Amino acid sequence: MAERLVKYSRAQQKDVQDEHFYDAQCPYCSMQCKMRVIEQKGPSRTQYKTIALDNPTSEGRLCVKGIHAYQHAVHRERVKQPLFKVDGQFVPVSWEFALSVIKEKFTNIQEKFGTDAVSVYGGGSLTNEVAYLLGKFARVALRTKYIDYNGRFCMSAAASAANQAFGIDRGLTTRLDEIEQTDCIILAGTNIAECQPTIMPYFERAKENGTKIIVIDPRVTETSKMADWHIQLKLEQMQH
Ligand code: SF4
Repeated sequence: MAERLVKYSRAQQKDVQDEHFYDAQCPYCSMQCKMRVIEQKGPSRTQYKTIALDNPTSEGRLCVKGIHAYQHAVHRERVKQPLFKVDGQFVPVSWEFALSVIKEKFTNIQEKFGTDAVSVYGGGSLTNEVAYLLGKFARVALRTKYIDYNGRFCMSAAASAANQAFGIDRGLTTRLDEIEQTDCIILAGTNIAECQPTIMPYFERAKENGTKIIVIDPRVTETSKMADWHIQLKLEQMQH
């Protein structure tokens, strides 16, 4: 079987007519693993492969989410142009038309209710440059004071709790390279084994060094399974 796979892959390689490399960074979690996406165009199809690139955080590892992240960009159902709803149906329109409609609607709303009546909502996976432009767009073009991003909803409760407990609002209170020298680690409400798997070797090395790991989570997860103590809170306890 392995021999046939090797033969197949070599045959595929020969058919490659054009090859492009894209160096990218996975946006799905704070590890920000680096990768190279290889695009190979053949006579009948284009195929993609992802390889991990070395970097100080994930040390050259990638998880399954990162390996398949390119699929969002190349998926056949990806919406590539604006859609406008007419009689309940979405119809493709030009960017010029879409932007003129947005401008007209925004202008009407702001004239009627003030500039702060519109807001801008960004995403945690925006690059620094795009986030900067979005901020400029909100403040200078729209002149609204309301700008937010999805990270507030996923992190604000944790940030408040961490502030009260440790006086710092970071998700991680140590540097990654300090993890394996730590005596005791508390993982509260996090499932790193499944959500940030490339960070796991830091904790595995810590365990080899004798670190005690406490996991606070109502669920049994792959993370709680590696804990020395799993504090499994009941819902009633979490409400207080
Ligand atoms: S651990 Fe996985 S999800 Fe997180 S940045 Fe790396 S590849 Fe992406």
